[in-house]
Amino acid sequence: MISVQDGQNRVLTQITAPTPPEVLLLGQARARVLAEDVTAPFDVPPADNSAVDGYAGASADIPSSGTRELAVVAELPAGAVFEGALAPGQAVRIMTGAPMPRGADTAYPQEVVDKTARGIRVPTIKKGANVRMRGEDVQAGTVVVERGTVLRPQELGLLASLGRVEVLCHRRPRVALLSTGDEVVEPGAPRKPGQIYDANRFALAASIEGAGGEVQDLGIVPDTREDLRARLLEASAADAVVTSGGVSVGVYDLVKEVLGEIGAIDFWQVAMQPGRPLAFGRIGAAHFFGLPGNPVASMLVFMLFVRPALHKLAGRRRLFGDTFEARATEAMSKKKGRREFKRGVLQFRDGAWQVRTTGPQGSGILSSMAAGNCLIVLPEERGDVAPGETVLVEPF
Ligand code: AMP
Ligand code: MG
Repeated sequence: MISVQDGQNRVLTQITAPTPPEVLLLGQARARVLAEDVTAPFDVPPADNSAVDGYAGASADIPSSGTRELAVVAELPAGAVFEGALAPGQAVRIMTGAPMPRGADTAYPQEVVDKTARGIRVPTIKKGANVRMRGEDVQAGTVVVERGTVLRPQELGLLASLGRVEVLCHRRPRVALLSTGDEVVEPGAPRKPGQIYDANRFALAASIEGAGGEVQDLGIVPDTREDLRARLLEASAADAVVTSGGVSVGVYDLVKEVLGEIGAIDFWQVAMQPGRPLAFGRIGAAHFFGLPGNPVASMLVFMLFVRPALHKLAGRRRLFGDTFEARATEAMSKKKGRREFKRGVLQFRDGAWQVRTTGPQGSGILSSMAAGNCLIVLPEERGDVAPGETVLVEPF
């Protein structure tokens, strides 16, 4: 029996290189992982500019008390540049974002000035007010988005503001996925007594996509050596292979055995609940993950072992999600010596984060995952949890 953390380390040390980079148009790069450090080719903003619709003037003309009249000598829409320089006593009508004219260093919002026959009457204001300085967002030459970052809408906007058309991203890891079991049938097909619909392939396909992978769906494989061998060999062209079922100790649990013949297998009992059995290894160049058949266990083993592995393969800098603390509102039983994961409902109530379980926690009860919004993570050394105690939670 090995610990969750030792298992994670053993998996991650096997992944030595990320997938190769490819060039993508910015519009295709959402949720992809950046494979280059992007530096700013120029200052952002490129020039001092007005933060308000109003009037640009020189600080030398700011009245120390009362008001002062300034002549308005030009009107600058956004995108226009004032060619000359301001003389003393002059101001320019300016719109938000327009570059400050030479000689002007302060902008008066239009709400604070009064119009006069030849210009405006301005009140006292702080020197430099309402001006966005050149380079205050990003300075030329600095790294703006680091290699290994997942591109969210804000990073895409930032890259576009630097004039980028294309970016270098890691290719999405290709993940071959199959379900095993003579009793498992495709949703939509008639279901005979003793048969169950394939839940795992759908939960796992979505999990793979959520982790940045691309799914190669190899369907359902019956519990025979010949079928398993053929389908696993087909799967071995991928970057990773994920199977569910057939890794336990039953008579028809053949995945380990077949993989031992055509690849390399490392089978572990992980000290966790749910999800104990996990087969990890390789077929050809592909990393192999044999997940348990019970639907909750297979999703959990995916989250703990496959997701960080796919993140590392995809070139991500951060491999694990964040954990937070919350107050348990109910008692929870916990065996010492193994890490337990309960499905929880996390809520902010009465000024604090509180969490309860979703109810029955059997490893086949998939509705417990659907009812929850987080995992409650109870570490190895912990015993039973009393109401009011603090526990770790990891939002889904
Ligand atoms: P196994 O490890 O193959 O013995 O499977 C353990 C349990 O999970 C059994 O009750 C299986 O019927 C169930 N199971 C296996 N594969 C799936 C699947 N793809 N979808 C839903 N349940 C499954
Ligand atoms: Mg089975």
